[in-house]
Amino acid sequence: MADRNLPRAEVVVDLEALAHNVALLAGRAAASGAATMAVVKADGYGHGAVPVARAALGAGASWIGVASQAEALALRTAGIDAPVLSWLDTIDTDFAPGIAAGIDVSASSTRELGAIIEGARAAGATARVHLKIDTGLSRNGCPATEWPELVAAANAAPEVETVAVWSHLACADEPGHPSIDRQADRFARACAAVDGRPLRHLANSAATLTRPDLHLDLVRVGIAMYGLNPVAQPEDLRPVMSFRSSVVLTKRIAAGESVSYGQTWTAATDTNLALVPAGYADGVPRALSGRLHVWLAGRRRPVVGRVCMDQLVVDCGDDRVPVGEQVVLFGDGSAGEPTATEWADTLGTIDYEIVTGLYRPRVTRTYR
Ligand code: PLP
Repeated sequence: MADRNLPRAEVVVDLEALAHNVALLAGRAAASGAATMAVVKADGYGHGAVPVARAALGAGASWIGVASQAEALALRTAGIDAPVLSWLDTIDTDFAPGIAAGIDVSASSTRELGAIIEGARAAGATARVHLKIDTGLSRNGCPATEWPELVAAANAAPEVETVAVWSHLACADEPGHPSIDRQADRFARACAAVDGRPLRHLANSAATLTRPDLHLDLVRVGIAMYGLNPVAQPEDLRPVMSFRSSVVLTKRIAAGESVSYGQTWTAATDTNLALVPAGYADGVPRALSGRLHVWLAGRRRPVVGRVCMDQLVVDCGDDRVPVGEQVVLFGDGSAGEPTATEWADTLGTIDYEIVTGLYRPRVTRTYR
């Protein structure tokens, strides 16, 4: 009954906040003469790739970045016709449908380029390729020793248009880290080895905020667009996601009664409890048990006992909170509620993981 009106756990995405963040980031990029790519992989870091891409394109981004052909084609199916770059495809990927749909692809090796050329032939279209150089992250990207061979193979293939040269920074979120300049130097050398002035792109959110000299032709912004600041310097970024649920049952327990599995918490005095239908299956980490607060009826209140698979229990003390009352698990922090960043700090992780972790079917997503 309650489920019909009260969502178990609900992600609310504030697209106005997203547009504000994109305008800020794209404004910084434009001041350096660079365009902005909105990174919407992993379903828009848990925010929903299609609505985020649309809002970002409306607010100043002109490119979209994703991890896979499937993510890219889903954007095309939704009617998004802006340039889209997909960069984590594997060598056994069938590139033909994406190339036919005008999706840009990334090549880190001659083998990967070979798969792309095959896709272009099958599609009967030219592949728009971004050649990726590994400048120090040591994940994908072509090693410098193999770079001349990759560039020559791209030049020699009539099926390939080299649209860009690109790389990814390892420590941009630690401004001043010596690896940033080292990577930038290696990147400049790799670009110099390519004829025809393709686009150059290197900066993620952190470098977009702190290193205008690295904006080059295009910046790729993810986390800052979602309003989460990857660097210590203050920025006018607005968190886009809030995570909510509601009270579905209340009860009063006597001093000495315990709560949830393992009875790890015992009431010191008679108290009112509120049951919230959000648990670790909904993205509330069990590791937050005993360390989690929610915003409920105008105050932060502690979650007591263990977070369960489907529910958690809030101690409301002397307050009688009505069934149906909204519970904010995290929000933008403006009212004093926890934030995704606070969850991440408590868990010893990064806020990227918190918001992306809410990319799950059980969590309802709404937009405003
Ligand atoms: N560029 C690449 C290659 C990435 O993999 C990512 C995200 O993981 C980004 C850009 C965006 O990074 P951020 O979310 O830190 O802006």
